[in-house]
Amino acid sequence: MGIRTGAQYRESLRDGRSIYVNGERVKDVTTYPPFQGVVDTIASLYDLQHQPTQQPPLTYPSPKDSQPVGLSFLMADSVEDVERRVRAEEFRAEMTCGLMGRMPDFMNALVTDAAIAAPFIGQREPRFGENTLRYYEACRDADWCLTHTLVDPQIDRSKGPAEQRDPEAALHVVRETDNGIVVSGARMLSTLAPFSNELWVGPFYPRKPGEEAYTLCFAVPMDTPGLKFICREAYNTGRSRFDRPLSYRFDEEDALAIFDTVEVPWERVFINGDIEASNYILGRAPGYALLQAVIRGTVKLRFMAGLACTVAEAIGRTKAQHVQAQLGELVANVEIANGLLKAAAHNVVTNHKEGGSLRSLAASLWVFIPQAQMRAAEVIRQVSGSGLIMTPTEGDLQNPEIAPYLERYLQGKSLSARNRVQLFKLAWDMLGEQFGSRQLQYEWFYAGDPTFTRSRFYHSPAVKGYKAMVERILDEGKSGG
Ligand SMILES: Cc1cc2nc3c(=O)[nH]c(=O)nc-3n(C[C@H](O)[C@H](O)[C@H](O)COP(=O)(O)OP(=O)(O)OC[C@H]3O[C@@H](n4cnc5c(N)ncnc54)[C@H](O)[C@@H]3O)c2cc1C
Repeated sequence: MGIRTGAQYRESLRDGRSIYVNGERVKDVTTYPPFQGVVDTIASLYDLQHQPTQQPPLTYPSPKDSQPVGLSFLMADSVEDVERRVRAEEFRAEMTCGLMGRMPDFMNALVTDAAIAAPFIGQREPRFGENTLRYYEACRDADWCLTHTLVDPQIDRSKGPAEQRDPEAALHVVRETDNGIVVSGARMLSTLAPFSNELWVGPFYPRKPGEEAYTLCFAVPMDTPGLKFICREAYNTGRSRFDRPLSYRFDEEDALAIFDTVEVPWERVFINGDIEASNYILGRAPGYALLQAVIRGTVKLRFMAGLACTVAEAIGRTKAQHVQAQLGELVANVEIANGLLKAAAHNVVTNHKEGGSLRSLAASLWVFIPQAQMRAAEVIRQVSGSGLIMTPTEGDLQNPEIAPYLERYLQGKSLSARNRVQLFKLAWDMLGEQFGSRQLQYEWFYAGDPTFTRSRFYHSPAVKGYKAMVERILDEGKSGG
């Protein structure tokens, strides 16, 4: 037990799971061509933990048997511990340029959050709190890769799951047995599903009385009978790494999770009908998962700022002051994100020890990072011009009849045509291809409905203090002068 190698991870995916892509069941996700790049990427992250220079910063000894386990499971006691977590997660996010939202660190952090909230989860039925803690230990010691699914199918969002035309569409409990609960229905979205070992089903939207059957938190292995995943179209379809440098390696996939009479053993059930536990669990956790997401988002902003600068330099555009100002704005946004990240890390410690708020984490995630990413994408488009579109394929560059033309007309300021085309293809994959479009959609929605989440800041107690300043000036004006 303890950290796994890439080879062990790969082998663990060959378990007969039900994964469908493009109308067909994928027999082995590790050999299915569109998935190979991302399996390689995740396997390489597992291997990194075994490198003698990387093992100390990426792991800590398991409290169970002292074997090294992933640092994203660490329950931090101090700011130094949180900083260790940040360094490890930042390092891994850099390996993927922040482009894989659900790399294993995210769910490692979420099950750690849940384990810290275990006493709250077990308030009504202590066994569920104990199950939550034991599941965290199992994930930590087996180094599983997890996917998760939180939201009901998007059928009619004006109504709760019980009021839908088909009240059995959303995942719900069908019956309880001596062994566990039997569930059916669907959950909307599960990123990384084909590449995971376990599915964690959790709460998200607040549940209300009458929705107990839909109020669930549990985990099951991916090959559980009755569990099926229907994936969206894969973005890495038969193009070379030169042509699709990002889709090729980082397309983490998204899938509809279907539960066709799935039995979940009691020891894997964490919430069953407890509305209070479901609605408040995340507020009782230190916020490690949010912190991981802020780290990853910040790394992505750094990558996009770097991409914008490299593109502008490649075509000799950086002499213009307005271009420098656009690029400078992106770099300044990275500085803001770096600052929010530091504040967020301290916030996690405060929250853990004193039950403080997660406001700076949430502000980074729900408001700043998506906005900054949109702006970075806009600037890359603006500085690129036609270069973003005029990107012949690797095949074109290999054809001796046309290659000399391309080499002459598509070179950059001080780049060969091949290197310039490669750079612009990277930029287009980041913005324009299916992969890039999803990146924007992901950043807006992965942490919930952005309209709803932003509106929560309006209700922040801090607003009272802001308004008091305005009232003071108005009052001072009333007294004349
Ligand atoms: C790429 C991607 C990856 C994701 N990965 C995961 C994952 O791994 N696991 C997971 O659990 N979830 C995942 N999600 C799902 C994510 O949790 C949801 O997208 C998010 O919670 C928002 O829910 P929704 O998509 O159902 O949108 P909705 O809640 O249906 O919102 C759609 C739009 O309707 C608007 N709206 C809401 N209420 C009203 C109203 N009353 N009147 C008018 N408009 C309204 C919203 O503001 C929003 O603009 C992912 C999403 C994306 C896009």
